[in-house]
Amino acid sequence: MNEQQRIKILSDLTAIKSVNDNEQEVALYLQKLLKEHGIPSKLISYDDNRASLVAEIGNGKPVIAFSDHEDVVAAGDSWKNDPFKLTEIDGKLYGRGTSDMKSGLADIVIAMIELKENNTKLNGTVRLLASLGEEIGEYGAEQLTKEGYMDDVDALIIAEPSNTQTKDGTRILRLCYATKGSLDMQIQSKGKQAHSSLPETGNNAVQNLLDVLYKINNKIGKVNAIDPVTGKFLFNFDVISGGTQVNTIPASAKAEFNARTIKEFDNEKVKDIVNNSINELNQSDKKYHLSSKVLMQLDPVTSTKDNNLDKLIMKVTTRYLDNEFKQTGLSAITDATQYLKNKPDNFPMAIFGPGQTDSAHISNEYVYKDFYLKFADIYKVIMKAYLK
Ligand SMILES: [Zn+2]
Repeated sequence: MNEQQRIKILSDLTAIKSVNDNEQEVALYLQKLLKEHGIPSKLISYDDNRASLVAEIGNGKPVIAFSDHEDVVAAGDSWKNDPFKLTEIDGKLYGRGTSDMKSGLADIVIAMIELKENNTKLNGTVRLLASLGEEIGEYGAEQLTKEGYMDDVDALIIAEPSNTQTKDGTRILRLCYATKGSLDMQIQSKGKQAHSSLPETGNNAVQNLLDVLYKINNKIGKVNAIDPVTGKFLFNFDVISGGTQVNTIPASAKAEFNARTIKEFDNEKVKDIVNNSINELNQSDKKYHLSSKVLMQLDPVTSTKDNNLDKLIMKVTTRYLDNEFKQTGLSAITDATQYLKNKPDNFPMAIFGPGQTDSAHISNEYVYKDFYLKFADIYKVIMKAYLK
């Protein structure tokens, strides 16, 4: 495919508003494109207008899977151009999802099509896993894993935006082999409503909630755990609500937090602190009616950095791009948490895509045009070399 044809695919994908729904339109677009080039694919339906897509070239073992998600986050505001119209300015391609991660998705599909067109002999299988709902819940990857699409996979490349740049604009290629875990929890407080001039006739749920949040904050604030690859343990209360009006003692209140966990301080340790704090207060005074529930939990993902897959990626990439290359960890969550659920710790996995980590989820999201164009070739050579 020439440059124009490659850009057209990213442009078409950007125009599809797959904001954590409507992913089926992306899947159908890709299915049609792949079919035109003789590559069969399978739509894996999840819900109305929501579907993942699986496509393959080659056959047999080994199997190298390429993971991409079809959804994007909401556009938000402060865009200089239409977020759903691919716009080129100064070597950058702007649009929602250009970095995260429709450029990666397009590059994988282009690589597969070109290998097929050239009748390239592959001793094994390249499998595209294009998932829905990655940004909220990883439902697509969860479904694909349950349905067995990871069972025979020997290596996994996730085409998420992995690259960064320094303040002076120097671009750094990054291959990420580990990610943090993530835990969302809600803490609830039940009390009794009363007139605020007679607080003793009620039980203040907001006040009681503050007591437990203070306790948790004190304990978590002392945690200073750092993973050498993925960085610091992080904890933030992000949602708090309670009460109905200012002159009424509130009967209920709740707060939610997100923790970004690491092996050295994992989800279980956070849950212990939260539940111990709740139990201590509940037992100390009968005014406390505190409880908690887990909204979402994903474990940290670790791979090794010395496997053949990572070595191959670095060798191939340095032939196409001369930017500084780093092997490191990623703070964000990817579909890898689902895909690697039943795989050993050292499973060859690399998060390596054309996009910029620092451009994901922001307004005026972009991908560098040269990275977008070259990653299609890089993926193609990786597929060929891994299955030679
Ligand atoms: Zn993403």
